[in-house]
Amino acid sequence: MKFDKELFKGTVLNNIKTLYRRTLEEATEQQIFQAVSYAIKDVVVDNWMATQKEYEKKDPKIVYYMSMEFLMGRALGNNLINLRAYKEVAEALDELGVDLNLVEDQEPDPALGNGGLGRLAACFLDSLATLNYAAYGCGIRYRYGMFRQEIRDGYQVEVPDNWLADGYPFELRRPEYAKEVKFGGWVSSYVDENGRTIFKQEGYQSVQAVPYDMPIVGYGNGIVNTLRIWDAQPVECFSLDSFDKGDYQKAVEQENLARNIVEVLYPNDNHYAGKELRLKQQYFFISASVQEAVDKYMRTHTDLHKFHEKVAFQLNDTHPTVAVAELMRVLMDDHDLSWDEAWEITCKTCAYTNHTIMSEALEKWPIELFSRLLPRIYQIVEEINRRFVLRIQQMYPGNQEKIRKMAIIYDGQVKMAHLAIVGGHSVNGVARLHTEILEKQELRDFYEMMPEKFNNKTNGITQRRFLLHANPLLADWVTDHVGDEWITDLPALSRLRIYADDEKAQQEFMNIKYQNKVRLAKYIREHNGIEVDPRSIFDVQVKRLHEYKRQLMNILHIMYLYNELKDHPDMDFYPRTFIFGAKAAAGYRNAKLTIKLINSVADVINNDPVVDGRIKVVFIENYRVSNAEWIFAAADVSEQISTASKEASGTGNMKFMLNGALTLGTMDGANVEIVEEVGKKNAFIFGLSAEQVIQYENYGGYNPMDIFNNDQDIRRVLMQLINGTYSPQDPELFRPLYNSLLNTQDTAKADTYFILADFKSYAEAQRRVEAAYKDEKNWAKSALLNVACAGKFSSDRTIEEYERDIWHQEKVILPSKPELSK
Ligand SMILES: *Cc1c(COP(=O)(O)O)cnc(C)c1O
Repeated sequence: MKFDKELFKGTVLNNIKTLYRRTLEEATEQQIFQAVSYAIKDVVVDNWMATQKEYEKKDPKIVYYMSMEFLMGRALGNNLINLRAYKEVAEALDELGVDLNLVEDQEPDPALGNGGLGRLAACFLDSLATLNYAAYGCGIRYRYGMFRQEIRDGYQVEVPDNWLADGYPFELRRPEYAKEVKFGGWVSSYVDENGRTIFKQEGYQSVQAVPYDMPIVGYGNGIVNTLRIWDAQPVECFSLDSFDKGDYQKAVEQENLARNIVEVLYPNDNHYAGKELRLKQQYFFISASVQEAVDKYMRTHTDLHKFHEKVAFQLNDTHPTVAVAELMRVLMDDHDLSWDEAWEITCKTCAYTNHTIMSEALEKWPIELFSRLLPRIYQIVEEINRRFVLRIQQMYPGNQEKIRKMAIIYDGQVKMAHLAIVGGHSVNGVARLHTEILEKQELRDFYEMMPEKFNNKTNGITQRRFLLHANPLLADWVTDHVGDEWITDLPALSRLRIYADDEKAQQEFMNIKYQNKVRLAKYIREHNGIEVDPRSIFDVQVKRLHEYKRQLMNILHIMYLYNELKDHPDMDFYPRTFIFGAKAAAGYRNAKLTIKLINSVADVINNDPVVDGRIKVVFIENYRVSNAEWIFAAADVSEQISTASKEASGTGNMKFMLNGALTLGTMDGANVEIVEEVGKKNAFIFGLSAEQVIQYENYGGYNPMDIFNNDQDIRRVLMQLINGTYSPQDPELFRPLYNSLLNTQDTAKADTYFILADFKSYAEAQRRVEAAYKDEKNWAKSALLNVACAGKFSSDRTIEEYERDIWHQEKVILPSKPELSK
């Protein structure tokens, strides 16, 4: 592709002039970032228009990926990568005396997501564009994204993330596609002259949904798709001269509704909080997205009965499930279709992805709230439920139990997962083990009634961000050895297998890993003021803080190792740097206390002369996509230690593998498939199986007290939680964590995540890690094999499976080669 370096440099300088009336020398780094971004956006928009024009011409089926979260990470570097212009732009900027890395560092992370679920949505958009499929991401333009985490005195402090403060160059406001979304009021009905019942929502409040579009650049194919996120504005419904008191009141209320609705992203991962505003957010972006999908279809088609041939809605978890009822409403109330017609189209359009089996994540809205906020939608859900219950009764006559377990509305609650399963044609889990558990356990009744809907789609990640951008040294090394096909065909990495035994390749790999560790060590020095040794083992657990992910087990094991070192200061011990990164939901007490524990243990161990730097513990502040990229590249050991059966898939595990870290993990989620690909010899597996955990759970748990009483190492570590070893000022500080493991009142509530049950097995696996690392050649071989076997875990593979089984889109190939610049 052509890249006119001089033209690009001129555009950057001109942007600085016209945007800021400054010269390059006078401009701030933020201003340079903006100027560079606008220069790139200029190119992207040309491709964007060409893509949309071709879509209009070819009229392909369109996928709408509906998600409350898109954890995009920074756009500038990724756009340059996918335009295949990264190196040229870096060079051009270098000639201007500007460092592209520093420019990239000025961009705020658009952190419109919590963790894995939101990042999956972002990886899917990258793959859809790269694979030439027409797609929209549909979401919310939160004014404040995921909070910024600061660590003060070892505690997490949440700071608002005002990501729009300087203006975001890669978004485009599209007021021409604004939609009205209605809340509250009541539904009146009357029979029209044709004998049809007409429903009308009255006395409602409404907000104006205004879309902002972000370009999603495909890799090297000229395709640019759209992430459409909705902002809320008050509707202008009254003229100043004619309002009475009631109108004024209403206007103020509507303004407040609009102000509040997109204000913040709820910071809960895998946890349902049941807040009214959250349901408002869900209906807000779904109503706007569904209305626009139907409007767009009707601009170029006449027959709504074929809607599903041109449109697919993929529901990312139950959060967007209200789309089922909203599509019914639009088809019936706005387009006069009958119930049966609308139902057939809706079922053929919608598909649901399940992301967790954990009961605390299940969305169940109280009828009172749901029907008050969405009166028309509630009527439709009631009718869907009435008809579904009839089907259950036909299939299982007299079986009340089936109705209790499967009804959409039961016991005063609307169950969103049940609505999603009944109102769509596909239900998928996100890793093989997870889908099996759905079929055999959590959704067993639904699976028995409609097995044809169930399928598995093991998650994936985009190698464009998580290797090509995140780890340029390794990316170049891979390309030098096996060519660059892996960028769009990750299984091509398997050609690296022949280098696994090659000593030169092993050394080169270890050297690249070392340089990435130096890069991360510098980041840690600058951000934490902690000195870490890049020759030590980098043992990393980065992910949301959650009890099921068991960061607590990791830090308890570090406390155990420290005890060993104190008892035997001269023991053989390979230096290890334990790295954590995790945000905890603002209201999650044990999660936040675990962060404090990690930092307290770090303070003691990092400063103990007996340890002498052999153990370092680092908590990286504000874990997010941008620093994640550096962390994965530098990791030796990937901690994937969730209680088996609880982590539906995990995607962090895949990013580590792709960067040549060895997995230390349980047989949970996609770890099972990672081990299947790379071989048990090249991973460290431990702990109870999912089947064993589920067995215990079904028979009333287990008794951790037996372990506490019989294992002196574990007992000692647990006692250190409550004797002030790590909190001399307040020995009781960590009592809640101790109690979570050994709740003496109610054994069924003790250690529900099986930390003590798995502890010894984990410690033993950690000893295998140490022994393995001492054999550097073998370690390098295993690490190289991890890279070579990561091919399955590209989101490109996942998307092609969604295509094959659910969406059935045709690819759109652009007629002319994309231009890098005009
Ligand atoms: C990949 C990713 C996650 C998900 O990690 P898991 O280990 O799968 O929970 C969360 N946050 C960020 C920033 C990520 O990049």
